[in-house]
Amino acid sequence: MAQTFEQETLQVLLRDVPFVTEARYLPSTTSTNDVLKTLAADGAPEGTLIVTDEQTAGRGRLDRKWIAPPASSLLFSVLFRPVLAAQQAHVLTMLCSLGVRDAVRDTLGLNVGLKWPNDIVHRGHKLGGLLTEIDADTERLRWAIVGIGINVNWDPSAVPGLAQPVTSLSNLVGAPILRQDLLRSILQAVSRRYDALKTGLWPAREWEGALETIGQRVVVEGPATPIEGTAVGVAPDGALLVRTASGQVHRVVAGDVSVRPSGTHDA
Ligand code: ADP
Repeated sequence: MAQTFEQETLQVLLRDVPFVTEARYLPSTTSTNDVLKTLAADGAPEGTLIVTDEQTAGRGRLDRKWIAPPASSLLFSVLFRPVLAAQQAHVLTMLCSLGVRDAVRDTLGLNVGLKWPNDIVHRGHKLGGLLTEIDADTERLRWAIVGIGINVNWDPSAVPGLAQPVTSLSNLVGAPILRQDLLRSILQAVSRRYDALKTGLWPAREWEGALETIGQRVVVEGPATPIEGTAVGVAPDGALLVRTASGQVHRVVAGDVSVRPSGTHDA
């Protein structure tokens, strides 16, 4: 049977992660982002972490469902209270996705890529996603929550109806993975990168370098007319820059858009 996270194990694991101030394990919950949102509104400190083995209402952007069988995945959310404006919140998605990439490389020797704006991928196959949610006043963020779901020890490729090719870390390395080690490594990387951000190191260029999306022909679909072109880079705030046939470069912000490779269609 798959191993679950134990509260005590979590405490021991997180002793050496400076960023984590409180860690709670829930065997099953609706969504770690939803639980943490309530705690954030009640004043929970920066660095609060929620980890679960099962989500009954896991979701991605636009309320799309996130699927994960019990004890198969890494499912967790972390709370930030950064000195940033609301429009800068995407930097936390950048920072955390780079942290996942660091940790997968360090613990498994595997190089994963990223897909704009919030996916973890390996050669076009999605293996994880991030969901950043915020509360802000006019001046700055009150809090930002980054939820992370990663397919670890299961094979999602047989799940019907997923919009794109999918994979998992165990599929890629060909062996089961100890989720606790990976979680610790991710949080350590996020902690390091958050400290760097506070000293003014903005990760947009590094994030751009990790995006499989750059150089691809893409179609951006959203409330407005679809834009088709080549993804040529990202702006410092994380907006995707798409050059169309006329040579015009469009700035695309995450919000409610979907980006798919040109030539494919959503299911
Ligand atoms: P995107 O950024 O690709 O638009 P989201 O971040 O909104 O996607 O994530 C939700 C989407 O991810 C769902 O619509 C579904 O197609 C896909 N999905 C759901 N569960 C998984 C999973 N375990 N692995 C890979 N993809 C998934």
